[in-house]
Amino acid sequence: MPSVRKRLELNDYVNGIKSSNRVILSQAITLIESALTFDRDLSESLLGKILPSTGNSLRIGITGVPGVGKSTFIESFGLHLCEMGHKVAILAVDPSSQKTRGSILGDKTRMEELSHHKNAFIRPSPTGRSLGGVANKTRETILLCEAAGFDIILIETVGVGQSEVTVKSMVDFFLLLMLAGAGDELQGIKKGIMEMADSIVINKADGDNIKASKQAKTEYQNALHLFPASESGWYPKVMTCSAQENLGLNDVWDTINDFSTKMKETGFFSEQRKRQSIDWMHATIQNHLVSDFFEKYRVKSMLPLLEEKVSSGELTPQNAAHQLLSFRENSAK
Ligand code: GDP
Repeated sequence: MPSVRKRLELNDYVNGIKSSNRVILSQAITLIESALTFDRDLSESLLGKILPSTGNSLRIGITGVPGVGKSTFIESFGLHLCEMGHKVAILAVDPSSQKTRGSILGDKTRMEELSHHKNAFIRPSPTGRSLGGVANKTRETILLCEAAGFDIILIETVGVGQSEVTVKSMVDFFLLLMLAGAGDELQGIKKGIMEMADSIVINKADGDNIKASKQAKTEYQNALHLFPASESGWYPKVMTCSAQENLGLNDVWDTINDFSTKMKETGFFSEQRKRQSIDWMHATIQNHLVSDFFEKYRVKSMLPLLEEKVSSGELTPQNAAHQLLSFRENSAK
């Protein structure tokens, strides 16, 4: 219950995060995920305070259809990075829709070993969108993790469409996991998602599947050549790996490093981050406007009736929308 949850003082959050205290980091993430106005003010102050200690990480998005091996990959890749001495935070963009209420990373046991590693921090995704449209706070969570000293942030999302665009807008490098042998349509991967990828990694390249994976690698590499050149000047690389057998993970890491070095040299790295911050500002404004609007008493009370009139054909959707919007214009908050 958020109302009885104990909050810390602002400085306790700040000091806890800066000293890499995971319990306090978790509490701070819960605070920023809270929809309460009081918490919103405190989170904004907290984010303002830690801002100078943020930004020093590589933010990597990982996507792919269910079953492609995202959790297995994150477990192996994450451990690989932790063993190299990196501090790795694993987050998820909540893909739960009104319909499925699904939640990746909800089950921590999927990353058993990684979750116990001293250098790793796994934040399970919230179990669903709260009513009123409170947005997932992954961007803010990234900042908190960076301030706590995590230098690699892995952000998992399910490859079903909308959430990729969101993840792409908050990461430096976007990695698409795929499988050999399953047609693109079967994998539900739209061309647009392939175009967003900085790298395609064909997972499960082990056992009987090695040959097919190598073939798929060539096919995807050829397919990518047909796409228009990206504005970064980076050519997406296709690789194979086996998350289960720890094969090819070095190649993946080398590619990400290569990307990071080159993009820092050209200035694209910081340009992209600046643009993402501006987009984030706009998204925040939109989220606030939308949630404030639906919170209005008259909107709340009239919405069911107007929905009914729209579904029965008594009112056009535009007409109903304008009626609701006029409540906003007529009522000062
Ligand atoms: P997710 O739904 O994308 O998170 O996929 P999971 O990580 O849960 O993996 C789905 C299934 O594929 C599990 O049974 C894994 O054991 C298996 N799997 C994952 N990676 C590999 C791999 O590299 N090779 C093989 N052979 N199986 C894998």
